[in-house]
Order: sequence, then C-alpha cells, then structure tokens
Amino acid sequence: MNNPKLLENLRVIHDFPKPGIQFQDVTTLFKNAECLRIMRDEIVELYKDKGITKVVGIESRGFMLAGVTAVELGAGAVLCRKPGKLPGETISESYEKEYGEDTIEIHKGSIDENDVVLIHDDLLATGGSMRAAYDLVKKFNPKKIYINFIIELTVEGLHGRDMFDEGTEITTLMVV
Ligand code: IMP
Repeated sequence: MNNPKLLENLRVIHDFPKPGIQFQDVTTLFKNAECLRIMRDEIVELYKDKGITKVVGIESRGFMLAGVTAVELGAGAVLCRKPGKLPGETISESYEKEYGEDTIEIHKGSIDENDVVLIHDDLLATGGSMRAAYDLVKKFNPKKIYINFIIELTVEGLHGRDMFDEGTEITTLMVV
C-alpha cells in the first residue's frame, strides 16, 4: 500500500472540475508503464486466492484496471456504465448525488449467482458511486462481492467506507 512510485506519479489538478476541488488525476498512473504494472500486480496479489470470476469496472477510470486484472485473475470483465451507453437490456440503480440523481447500468446476464465479484473504481470519496454499484451488483445475487479502489480520499473528513456495512471487504492501493 502507498507504493512510493505511485504516490510520486499521481498528479493533483487544483480547482478541477470546480474551484476548491483538488482532483486526483490517475491518468498519470495509467500512462506510466511501471505504475500500471504495480497497480495490476497489487490488485492481483490481493485477490488471487479469492476465486474472483467477474471484475466489474465503473465508468470510465475503473475500466482500465478492471480489464487488466480480470485477465490475470482468470475472470471476466463487466462494464458498469452511465445510462444509455450499453446496447443490450440492462439492470439499473439510481442514487443521490450532490446535485440531483444519477443512474448506473449493467447488462442483464453479466453476473450470475455462481459469480464471485470484484468491483473496481479509481477513487473512493463519499462512497456514493460505489455504494450504488454495490447495490446494483447485489441485484444479480452473486456469491460474494469485494470492492477495490486505487485511491481512498480521507481529506476534509471524508470517510467513504462508512457507506458500507462493517463486514464489506474493501481494499485501496493508496490513501491520500
Ligand atoms: P464518490 O461517489 O463521492 O465516492 O466519488 C467517487 C467517484 O467520483 C469515482 O467514480 C471517481 O472516479 C470520481 N471522483 C471524485 N473525485 C475524484 C478525484 O479527485 N479524482 C478522480 N476521480 C474522482
């Protein structure tokens, strides 16, 4: 956790997308071959013995490592997307955001009751988006759900983990 190479390559963009926000820009980790490999290896190490059969990536920064780690874990990759992006029939979940409501979708039939699912996203802030993804995946009734993020934000009193029951298994590669 908190690999120095990752910490040193993570870019912070000030006042994006609006004044006062310090945006943690993971694209600088994706574009660096060594960082990409470190992140892949750390996630694979955490989950290699968990019997993961599906890795769900949350649009869009969650897609990068979902695909890469799914290959290594011998699992399939599933897209969790914003409404209207997936071409087939979907199951959806709506949730409250700071300004209004949002919805996410997964294709019907992507996950079944024999699956052990890892949901992955780039960053945990309030936990609202991951909570919605978790509730959506639960609708497919898989055997077990694990959660992973590249970054857990703890600045300004954020504690996104509080959105989940204590027994929920959540890992993060970095805490900033
Ligand atoms: P939450 O729902 O408040 O936990 O916010 C997490 C979601 O917002 C994730 O899907 C992130 O991709 C995105 N997000 C929020 N803040 C940042 C940031 O500083 N860097 C990258 N993504 C962010």
